[in-house]
Amino acid sequence: MPDSALNTAEQFTPQSVKTNLLGLSVSKLGDFFEQLGEKRFRATQMVKWIHQMGECDFDQMTNLSKSLREKLHESAEICLPEVVSCQDSTDGTRKWLIKVEGGSCIEMVYIPEKDRGTLCVSSQIGCALDCSFCATGKQGFNRDLNTAEIIGQLWIAAQSFDQFAAKAPRRVSNVVMMGMGEPLMNFNNVVDAMNLMMEDNAYGLSKRRVTLSTAGVVPALDQLAGVTDVSLAISLHAPNDELRNELVPINRKYNLKQFVESAKNYIEKMPDNRRKATVEYTLMDQVNDRSVHARELAVLLKELPCKINLIPFNPFPGSDYKRVTNTALNRFRDILQGEGYTVTVRTTRGDDIAAACGQLAGEVNDRTKRQQRYKNKLAAEEVPVKMLD
Ligand code: SAH
Repeated sequence: MPDSALNTAEQFTPQSVKTNLLGLSVSKLGDFFEQLGEKRFRATQMVKWIHQMGECDFDQMTNLSKSLREKLHESAEICLPEVVSCQDSTDGTRKWLIKVEGGSCIEMVYIPEKDRGTLCVSSQIGCALDCSFCATGKQGFNRDLNTAEIIGQLWIAAQSFDQFAAKAPRRVSNVVMMGMGEPLMNFNNVVDAMNLMMEDNAYGLSKRRVTLSTAGVVPALDQLAGVTDVSLAISLHAPNDELRNELVPINRKYNLKQFVESAKNYIEKMPDNRRKATVEYTLMDQVNDRSVHARELAVLLKELPCKINLIPFNPFPGSDYKRVTNTALNRFRDILQGEGYTVTVRTTRGDDIAAACGQLAGEVNDRTKRQQRYKNKLAAEEVPVKMLD
């Protein structure tokens, strides 16, 4: 399916706009080279140059003939999104502000841990889902990122850690599609980018170490099962429809039962029967953190092979919620553990640089008027609009 959108002849003709090779899968690169009158195996060479060696200058690609390099100059380019700034947190977390075509900026975060380094990648400019507790949603929505802009984020991180050098350690060992946006609303581009992440001749990440997180676009999740078997995280945040309708408005379209069932089907279709979904549950004081919610959640998830990741709510200017108290957090965890679930608590990272979950705001040229409403609300409350300036 991902290949179908691209195979139009005019896309690869030298006269038209240059093709950005950064976002092309091996198979699409094969089509590209074929249309240039070249052998398909050039695709593998090109993928290695770009994504294993970090080379973007055709003239440095020494296993390509001079005449092919000239043809490439005429018809193609390797074009990366622009890094506007890069901030390091005292805890080692790094956050980039990245400008994409059209002038908006997205954010990307790297979180180092003892045994791994996780890159949190964005899939859209802003987000259309408008979850009530998420800063990204308050920025409104501009557009989907294309495949080059998604995989370009990993390229940028790899380069910033010198990972393209020969025998360099792999600092980015995991990727989570948990940055700005809803990945399943940008299906083809996200799938293509994740395939490049896992491609042996590119970044070679294992499918266990690439995670797609969704708030519950059920038809797209149903479709995903036939296309990939990356790890799955589902953003639940509430154990019943009444509450979830308020927190995650897409629940009014696809309810909890449908979402959990769809996640279960996805997990069951995976070849490896030991795999589990990760359930994300952001805990907000007095909203979804009561014992009754924990018990309800335990029942809801009975049939789903999963582990539960509790995320203490990270406040942002003008947010309506408060962080869960430690007492409520521990009680919530204990109840779920008592019911036999594996429960982890996500520690807040990169707090000093607003890099934590739900704090990624970027600079979105909003097309939904949501950002204006949010700014008005902030102005009315006289909250400093740090993240929007
Ligand atoms: N749209 C996708 C990908 C974003 S993932 C999804 O919803 O899964 C970002 C994760 O952080 C989600 O689980 C999201 O619900 C959570 N999150 C959002 N805002 C948050 C906040 N203010 N505090 C803590 N977690 C938050």
